[in-house]
Amino acid sequence: MSQTEKTTFRSTILGSARIGPDRELKKATEGYWHGRVDRAGLESVARKLRAQNWTALRDAGLDSVPVNTFSFYDQVLDTAVMLGALPPRFAHIADDRDRYFAAARGDDDVPPLEMTKWFDTNYHYLVPEIDEQTRFTLDSRKVLGELTEALALGIPARPVVIGPITFLLLSKSTDGVAPLDRIEELVPLYRELLAELATAGAEWVQLDEPALVGDRAEAEIDAAARVYRSLAAAEVRPSILVASYFGHLGAALPALAGSGVEGLSVDLTAVVAPELPQLGDTLLVAGVVDGRNVWRTDLDAALATLRALPGTVAVSSSCSLLHVPYSLVPETGLDPALRSWLAFGAEKVDEVVVLARALAAGDGAVAEQLAASRAAAELRRGDPRLREPSVRARVAALGEEAATRAPAEERAVMQARAIPLPTLPTTTIGSFPQTPRIRAARAQLRSGEIDQAEYDRRMREEIAEVVALQERLGLDVLVHGEPERNDMVQYFAELLDGFAATAAGWVQSYGTRCVRPPILFGDVRRTSAMTVDWIGYAQSLTDKPVKGMLTGPVTILAWSFVRDDQSLADTAAQVALAIRDETVDLEAAGIQVIQVDEPALRELLPLRAADQQAYLDWAVHAFRLATAGVREETAVHTHLCYSEFGDVIGSIDRLDADVTSIEAARSRMEVLDDLNAVGFARGVGPGVYDIHSPRIPGRDEIVRSLKLALKAVPAERVWVNPDCGLKTRTAEEVEASLTNMVAAAAEVRAGL
Ligand code: GLN
Ligand code: ZN
Repeated sequence: MSQTEKTTFRSTILGSARIGPDRELKKATEGYWHGRVDRAGLESVARKLRAQNWTALRDAGLDSVPVNTFSFYDQVLDTAVMLGALPPRFAHIADDRDRYFAAARGDDDVPPLEMTKWFDTNYHYLVPEIDEQTRFTLDSRKVLGELTEALALGIPARPVVIGPITFLLLSKSTDGVAPLDRIEELVPLYRELLAELATAGAEWVQLDEPALVGDRAEAEIDAAARVYRSLAAAEVRPSILVASYFGHLGAALPALAGSGVEGLSVDLTAVVAPELPQLGDTLLVAGVVDGRNVWRTDLDAALATLRALPGTVAVSSSCSLLHVPYSLVPETGLDPALRSWLAFGAEKVDEVVVLARALAAGDGAVAEQLAASRAAAELRRGDPRLREPSVRARVAALGEEAATRAPAEERAVMQARAIPLPTLPTTTIGSFPQTPRIRAARAQLRSGEIDQAEYDRRMREEIAEVVALQERLGLDVLVHGEPERNDMVQYFAELLDGFAATAAGWVQSYGTRCVRPPILFGDVRRTSAMTVDWIGYAQSLTDKPVKGMLTGPVTILAWSFVRDDQSLADTAAQVALAIRDETVDLEAAGIQVIQVDEPALRELLPLRAADQQAYLDWAVHAFRLATAGVREETAVHTHLCYSEFGDVIGSIDRLDADVTSIEAARSRMEVLDDLNAVGFARGVGPGVYDIHSPRIPGRDEIVRSLKLALKAVPAERVWVNPDCGLKTRTAEEVEASLTNMVAAAAEVRAGL
């Protein structure tokens, strides 16, 4: 190494949010897409956000500040651009910013990169495509630009770049050659990058390798060791921090520690007692402040963990703060007790600084902060809302029978008698378009322009229209259309005890899309019916069966910030009972078909195989608890989407739903073979057309889809429905598509 005197640091975070505390970047970017903001305007918003963020981190007391964690869309896409790995189909777009956005979103001529979940978080990244046409070349402009910008502001900047192993493991091959086989092509590029960063003044660089916390083959770990040995051997380079997060490194830890890199970050919130080998003089960057949940850190516990660690230690968040809201400051409406138990991004940074100060100067230096942390923890432990006796007693009394219905074949016979339906019955997944009219009514209710009674009247009007439309189209099982739901989780969270909503707790889901997850802080209880009025009203308008729509317990957990003082399994059981109460009330109101959506069933699946079965067991149990309270004549449906279900297919069978509608159109019904392979023998509604695109599917095309489905599953078990809810489509698109779907079903039915 060229440096004679190595600098080091004691407090940092692994990355920060970038969409802006007030979603400034979202607004500017969408403005740019729609021509309301020009290129210079967009760049200036971005530059201002970066400067604000870095300055705040430095002023809070971090002595190493991550840079290059800004992104106009996604950090994996940024890395693909940095490595010259954008597919050639975007090459014709001359402007580099527009080329970048085309890769993210597609344009009239070219489809975008695929998008998928970032590990087990709710963030989604763009999947790089690597094939024989890929010629890796280094384009370091973005990272050098951010570094220079930060250094000019006097920021102790540490550029963050996705490491070569993770980049290739997250890429998809379009020519059959495993992307990781091309690792040797990347090594010289990363060496060149390191040299450029060192020359530009970087003392440290962070290379993110979260892919190494999953189950990795020996060859992959060997590759990582080889690559980092080679990078560490470079002549001119900054000190290297290899960052791991979302789990423990396992066998990759000694491999990395022995490679000669100067720093290694470990996620100490994900591992109970990590077997940390002696790291020699490698800096251990200890992720003790949870970067992906919203709870205030127990500073005493964190200090105990830190003091037990071997060697030289820096305090850090467990992962980037991308996954939590910016700050508690705007949350003035939160219950003050609850607020005192929370730490969002800015508060987590303060925690890191306090912990580092305690390590350096002793507890006395931060006595006040330690006392406040203890007081908050004590208040939280003693809050009655966290231990609601009626909920506790009910969960404790549950036996296996609470999650068990009569055998599915018996139910099928009883349901066929109770709910007469044609072969290949047609239905939809629940939502109809969230029209501007619906959104306007919601905004007017919020601003006080209309009262609840007027809002309810308008929603009923929407329901009546949707029911009439479905009757006109000739669908067999109708829905009420979900006009009253802003979001399928938030809607229920607002009505259940134990949840709180934030005012500005936005978190990036992908690109410019942000979500505001509710906070599940206490025991969950339903105090009154949540959906019966709406769905009962829809049923009163028609003789056809109306399907009641609920969100399942696993999905509610997956899309919320969940309490960390008990197991997810225990929390899921409480949510399940609340949903179960709703199913029973719907049934009593005359609803014969009830759908409990679990689109996020796979989202909480642990990264390591050894942990997966336990998760699937409690997830399945929670669903069954939520749905086994109804009579055998009542049909329980579920809906799954958003992912490949290959590795959880057996669990879909174990849900024991009478009918499962599942995304299938884009994968050409392959999921049906997977279901057959595990002996699935209940009703199934493979989506016959893709609702993600505005394209109207032709009747012939749907006929072909259906015939394909019928090759795998006998007609008696097949339902006909779209891939997912229709809320993002226009009324015209929906009417045209469903017309074709109903006609296609009739045609295939006639030919049986
Ligand atoms: N019932 C919901 C809807 O139709 C399901 C949404 C989903 O699968 N994400 O909108
Ligand atoms: Zn769906």
